[in-house]
Amino acid sequence: MRRLSSICAMRKQAQAWRDSGLSIALVPTMGALHAGHAALMRRARRLADRVVVSVFVNPIQFGPREDLAQYPRTAKRDAALCRDMGVDAIFFPSVADMYAADHSVFVEETALSRTLCGRTRSGHFRGVCTVVLKLFNIVQPHFAVFGQKDAQQVAVVRRMARDLNCPVRILVVPTVRESDGLALSSRNARLTPAERAVAPALWRALQAARRLCRSKRCSPPAVRKEMEAVLRAYGRTIAIEYIEMAEPRTLRPVQTVGRGTLIALAARIGTVRLIDNVVV
Ligand code: AMP
Repeated sequence: MRRLSSICAMRKQAQAWRDSGLSIALVPTMGALHAGHAALMRRARRLADRVVVSVFVNPIQFGPREDLAQYPRTAKRDAALCRDMGVDAIFFPSVADMYAADHSVFVEETALSRTLCGRTRSGHFRGVCTVVLKLFNIVQPHFAVFGQKDAQQVAVVRRMARDLNCPVRILVVPTVRESDGLALSSRNARLTPAERAVAPALWRALQAARRLCRSKRCSPPAVRKEMEAVLRAYGRTIAIEYIEMAEPRTLRPVQTVGRGTLIALAARIGTVRLIDNVVV
């Protein structure tokens, strides 16, 4: 496995692979890799001749009061996992290389970014789109693999790729969960044992919603009420940020919840913000 920190070296390696007729799959991550990321790598491995995993904690997608400084950084373990997964190159550029001191161009998606997480995380998807487009330009992958756990990110990146004509196929991998249903996330490590014990409530609430809507079409308020009841049973530990029901590609709110509807949830447990979702 090659470990590349310079943009120039990454670009050259990817170009050499393309010149040899090899296809490339990119898995963009922020590191602190876990089994969810491994599932993305496995999918990438099946798709393409060469797999590149980028590890970059992208400062511009964090708001001023968000957890950039606390975000876990586990470079050695990340490299070991990538090697075990048969990754061909791990790309870990520095912030200074990615963003010149006078960097002044950003990519902004102006519709889907405004709902769900975009309501409280202003500038987040602008940061995501900017870094993802930069990675696409550096690696020029044939495929890019993302996780369903970040359903809004998937929708926004798909829209960016469509609207800016990025010659890349976007693939999505189902959310990998702990045995109690909690979606794997780098942020789970910051939960205290007591908070960790209540965290599977998010998944239980989503499952309850899905059960409700499987048999009959339901109104969004009815689904929200069902989910709130599940979450409230865990006391005041869980602060709901949003419960939304939307069409997965456009993120437009739906009138009735039924087959194919995205049900997305964000909540704070202590200081940790968690998101999860299901598609009915
Ligand atoms: P992150 O490192 O958290 O920015 O995530 C990098 C990629 O891994 C994103 O496409 C995420 O959606 C995906 N990912 C994170 N957690 C999971 C999970 N539990 N299951 C599947 N994919 C995930």
